[in-house]
Amino acid sequence: MSSQPETASVRTRRALDGVVAYKPGRPPVVPEGVTSYKLSSNENPYPPLPSVREAIAEAAAHVNRYPGMDMYELRSAVAKRWGVSEDQVVPGGGSSGVLNQIVSATVEAGEEVVYAWRSFEMYPVLVGLAGGRSVQIPLRANGTHDLDAMARAITDNTSLVFLCSPNNPTGPVIGHDEAVAFMEKLPADVLVAVDEAYIEFNRDESALNSAEMFARFPNVVVCRTFSKAYGLAGLRVGYGIAWPQVAEVLNKTRLPFTVTDVAQTAAVASLQAEDELIERVDQVVAERERVEAALAEAGWELEPSQANFVWFPAGRHTAELAQAFDAAGLSVRPFADEGVRVTIDVPEANDLMVEVATKFRRRTER
Ligand SMILES: *Cc1c(COP(=O)(O)O)cnc(C)c1O
Repeated sequence: MSSQPETASVRTRRALDGVVAYKPGRPPVVPEGVTSYKLSSNENPYPPLPSVREAIAEAAAHVNRYPGMDMYELRSAVAKRWGVSEDQVVPGGGSSGVLNQIVSATVEAGEEVVYAWRSFEMYPVLVGLAGGRSVQIPLRANGTHDLDAMARAITDNTSLVFLCSPNNPTGPVIGHDEAVAFMEKLPADVLVAVDEAYIEFNRDESALNSAEMFARFPNVVVCRTFSKAYGLAGLRVGYGIAWPQVAEVLNKTRLPFTVTDVAQTAAVASLQAEDELIERVDQVVAERERVEAALAEAGWELEPSQANFVWFPAGRHTAELAQAFDAAGLSVRPFADEGVRVTIDVPEANDLMVEVATKFRRRTER
């Protein structure tokens, strides 16, 4: 018998040393009789619409075949909605997939990517995988992007900028005028990815208007997802909108067959059922506003969110607050010593969330 080595030791890229491996969470341990809610991933609480399920079932009958490489139906449905041509659409495996295509297409090893922090947890991972350097610019105290500081951080070595509006996890949007002023300061050859994963939930009229930005600045790519408002997180489909020359390059860096036919079909069916889906989005927004009013009543001073979550800037109380939610059967997303992000869900879950947060507030006030 040959002897078993103690450990595996193979050569891997040094860039990966700084990338934190994803640690899958254990399912929450819920006491018997307690209804638990997953409020940690900003998912849509409603199951797919019947028309979308039907489209998925139909597409499932053909999964012995590879997906269509040109993704024509998806591209043309999205293109029509945006008033652009099909070759300006960049489909991807979720918008995380699109963001990865963007990083792969723009960032050489050692180059810098500028973005606000705290923001989407995927940004440092994607930059790290590419061997790029993250330049994280602290958010202002109210959770908004500090675009002046971001503009000052741009150097000859900057290859990409992420803008997240509304920002995950803090909730506010980037203002349109501010965004335009930022773009005007930026070298025209630095690509700016505007990540609008939550834009359907926005009700702030001064928000960055990505269609306008994109029409005016050829170095903008707008990223959208079907995972949040459209409720298709499990299928992995999103897209970017870019100028044809940019889109052509971004489309090169997608792994072949990343967007399955089931996902493409469901996305197209969702665009067709948009009116029904928007009603659900309106319900989530109404719940968000109800929750924010109740939390304000309880003494919480939260910045208004434009997404499907609220942000508790709990600081040193973060772990304690997360534990209180956990004990009530609510799994949430804590960021150590910064705060807790909680997804808006169905009314029962939101009621419970407000109840826990209210009790916690009273307790820590004393
Ligand atoms: C959820 C999210 C995405 C995209 O998620 P996908 O499921 O990969 O489409 C992108 N950006 C932000 C800020 C998000 O929160």
